[in-house]
Amino acid sequence: MKKIEHIGIAVRSLENANKLFASLFGVEHYKIENVESEHVATSFFKIGDDKIELLEATSPESAISKFIKKKGEGVHHIAFEVENIYAEIERLKNEGFQMIHDAPKKGADNKLICFLHPKLTNGVLIELCQEIK
Ligand code: ZN
Repeated sequence: MKKIEHIGIAVRSLENANKLFASLFGVEHYKIENVESEHVATSFFKIGDDKIELLEATSPESAISKFIKKKGEGVHHIAFEVENIYAEIERLKNEGFQMIHDAPKKGADNKLICFLHPKLTNGVLIELCQEIK
């Protein structure tokens, strides 16, 4: 893994959270993107070199609405940038980790993404992401 790419925060209302985090960070979000495959609306903030992603569910089947029902709003995942997501999935599987979906999907921000099962990572949901070139 190369670095932390972003931290994802589950929110009930993207509109309210955008205002709150803009006043917290002192910068406005730089984009909003709907990710159909994940049933989420996202917004991104940049603080120095680091990114924060806010996620609101757009459907009850969304992992975000399930997360909020179970745990409430809050930190949802940590995303790590990888050079080659397919090679990294293979490496992690060989290490005994489990992916939630075997094949990467197109996520927000022009990335291929996939998630590791949190039951094998101390309850932390980890996202791998690779820039689509
Ligand atoms: Zn993410």
